[in-house]
Amino acid sequence: MNKEQVKDIKELLSSPQKIVIIPHRNPDGDAIGASLAMYHYLGKKHDVTIVSPNDYPSFLKWMPSSDSVRFFDKQNKQSKKALSEASVIFLLDFNALHRIGEDMKKTVETCEAEFIMIDHHQEPDRSISKYIYSDISVCSTCQMVYHFIEMLEAVDEIDSAIATNLYVGIMTDTGSFRFPSTTSTTHRIIADLIDKGADNARIHNNVYDVNSYSRLQLLGRALSNLKVKKEFNTAYITLTQKELNEFNFQKGDTEGVVNYALSLEGILFAAIFIEDVEQKIIKISFRSKGSFSVNKFSRKHYNGGGHDNAAGGRSDVTMEETIPIFLSLLPAYKNELEKSNE
Ligand code: 5GP
Ligand code: MN
Repeated sequence: MNKEQVKDIKELLSSPQKIVIIPHRNPDGDAIGASLAMYHYLGKKHDVTIVSPNDYPSFLKWMPSSDSVRFFDKQNKQSKKALSEASVIFLLDFNALHRIGEDMKKTVETCEAEFIMIDHHQEPDRSISKYIYSDISVCSTCQMVYHFIEMLEAVDEIDSAIATNLYVGIMTDTGSFRFPSTTSTTHRIIADLIDKGADNARIHNNVYDVNSYSRLQLLGRALSNLKVKKEFNTAYITLTQKELNEFNFQKGDTEGVVNYALSLEGILFAAIFIEDVEQKIIKISFRSKGSFSVNKFSRKHYNGGGHDNAAGGRSDVTMEETIPIFLSLLPAYKNELEKSNE
């Protein structure tokens, strides 16, 4: 985003606006954190509504003002009204409108509002809006929201609610500050957020130490389903709908499970395949270490995308068919996978 555009946005936000904030479908800590932080920041002057395409995991529902999030699927009329009346729409933590689901996409495409996208995913769809703040080198959209507030010369307006929400997104998108995207700038921002009221120990506890017994049992099943393809430095996990039901699956229960596959010594490429009978798909999460781009892999084979080391996609055939297809793709990447850690 150039200086001219920052000036435009400052001007736009200098008078009260009707603002809608949209995170991506199945929002994670970064998408919800960025949305709630912006809700608090913009809410000081504007009429702000967050419209999420659908629900998000319960381990995020303690976040400041999380009650204010409206859901396009469940509160459809109210959501459509807010969208149609909006003068400004923020798109947070996604790079293309299909990421909010086809139904909501159709509505959003008819909106007359000024769009502002803030996102760290690759290849943003630049046709969506004039104002795109895109930076794929930044660990999280929450860190970008901090920089956005900085550009607006309003860091002093960051209160403890904004700080807490931003902290959650930075923490979850960096795997608690350990992924390579975590920089000294990230740590400086985190330090400032703690100074501004983010209670780091409480936040970690609220997000990570709230497992249900059944979630841990499901994790146990996932780990016993773990398979290793040593010759391709690859490991993968499967979970069928039957297994999810057996352990009373709740939204968010499988978040982070793929990282166990990546934590195996020598493994550079990890995947988890999760059956979703309702959507008739196998939802896939990919993770990698080093130069092997799961974003490219997922775009090419699984109608997905994301980042170089963390991406998602889907398979439209059964689990029994999906796994052999996945395994048949690996030989073509043998070289790349061997070199990934160099
Ligand atoms: P996760 O595996 O945790 O769901 O997602 C990892 C990353 O990939 C996130 O940045 C997420 O936004 C992105 N991602 C997940 N699923 C999809 C997908 O189906 N399409 C695209 N384009 N990105 C995805
Ligand atoms: Mn993100």
